[in-house]
Amino acid sequence: MPTSARRERARVGAPRARASLAPQYRPERFGGIFSMHRPRGLAYVDRDYARSLGLPESPLWEGPAPALGEVPLSAPTEVHLVLSRRCAAGCSGCYVDATPDGAALSEADAKAALDRLAEMGVFHVALGGGEAVDLPYLLSVARHARARGLVPNLTTSGLSVDEPFAREAGAIFGQLNVSVDGLREDYERSRGFDGFSHAEKALRLLRAHSPHVGINCVVSRDNADRLGPLVAFAKRLRLSEVELLRFKPAGRGAGVFEDRDLTPRQAKRIYPRALWWAVRHRIRIKLDCSFAPMIFAHRPPKRVVDFFGVQGCVGGDVLASIMPEGHWVGCSFGGPREGRWDDPEVWARGFSAFRDYRARAPEPCRSCDYLSLCRGGCRVVAQAKGDWWQPDPGCPRVQAWREAHPGEPLGSARPPPAEGHKLRVVG
Ligand code: SF4
Ligand code: SF4
Repeated sequence: MPTSARRERARVGAPRARASLAPQYRPERFGGIFSMHRPRGLAYVDRDYARSLGLPESPLWEGPAPALGEVPLSAPTEVHLVLSRRCAAGCSGCYVDATPDGAALSEADAKAALDRLAEMGVFHVALGGGEAVDLPYLLSVARHARARGLVPNLTTSGLSVDEPFAREAGAIFGQLNVSVDGLREDYERSRGFDGFSHAEKALRLLRAHSPHVGINCVVSRDNADRLGPLVAFAKRLRLSEVELLRFKPAGRGAGVFEDRDLTPRQAKRIYPRALWWAVRHRIRIKLDCSFAPMIFAHRPPKRVVDFFGVQGCVGGDVLASIMPEGHWVGCSFGGPREGRWDDPEVWARGFSAFRDYRARAPEPCRSCDYLSLCRGGCRVVAQAKGDWWQPDPGCPRVQAWREAHPGEPLGSARPPPAEGHKLRVVG
């Protein structure tokens, strides 16, 4: 999970956030999760703290309370609703392999899926694509999400954003992020076309109507050493955040991954640099879940990273995705297809490819202090490098282990847990 204020956690049992609790609340086996407006984020609280707020006993609270993260959540907190594989931009690393005629979730199915997510107790829904702004029903779908109590967020290339769209979007979406992988020629080198001026215009239009506008930046070998000016640019435009996403071997990105994957030196530097940019420019810098091994390589105190909700591969648990063809996957970048969005059992039954990693972890993850938080790094990268169940080959600790054990293969994954993860869904 990114070091995200949006997903920032209050330590279980910590006496904070009482004054700004929002009405949205979901019980969990460990206690419950609140959605807060100020500061914006999700607060995870234990059973005693939930009781102290006068909340009713939950059937989920029978038996001993598990530790946070010990069992999967009763539903994801955030779902990525990938509305389409439709986009004309043709970015060279597009993770959904979008084309002008790509598949799209229909408006009716998108709204029905949102109804289902609201019933499950999901808090946030990330709408994206493809280029979701090109869908004539995007705003109607986003309004539907709001009406069902979900917070819709949007990621867009910005190419189709105009003043009327920006005005409406600013009133509906929680967070609006434009994909910008660098300034000017850096943008062109990363995306394969010259779209920076369009992205900048979109950012300015959106920022005029919402304070919650940011940049999504895919970090690859090409731009990792040139991100400082992009963060300064975000600050100049008074944006709220820069989210850094590791380049993934998904969609068209799979074919160019070997050339664009971060070098070991870049991977080691990304976390201290992100901290520096956050302090230097006083702007929120988020690192996506696939960067977790690069954070843990710096050995931050576990108590601190747990408090701030820093987690690695949370696919099929905290996060999940519904794809344009209508099926669930643990992560929008990859993983096995689970059931359709209207399958009521899928959350209780599925996602073992993500949830079982901790129980099956081979060395060096098995003996890693951060395994419970990191979950072995990015499964999509691991699969692209040969095996879904191997540790993330981009992890600095894994690379050090390989150097110390020349010629020795990484340990083998253990067999799947006999009973899988028991997940009780109530209501
Ligand atoms: S596979 Fe896991 S770590 Fe990688 S992007 Fe998906 S959820 Fe994040
Ligand atoms: S060794 Fe495994 S669990 Fe530890 S930080 Fe690396 S990928 Fe994560």
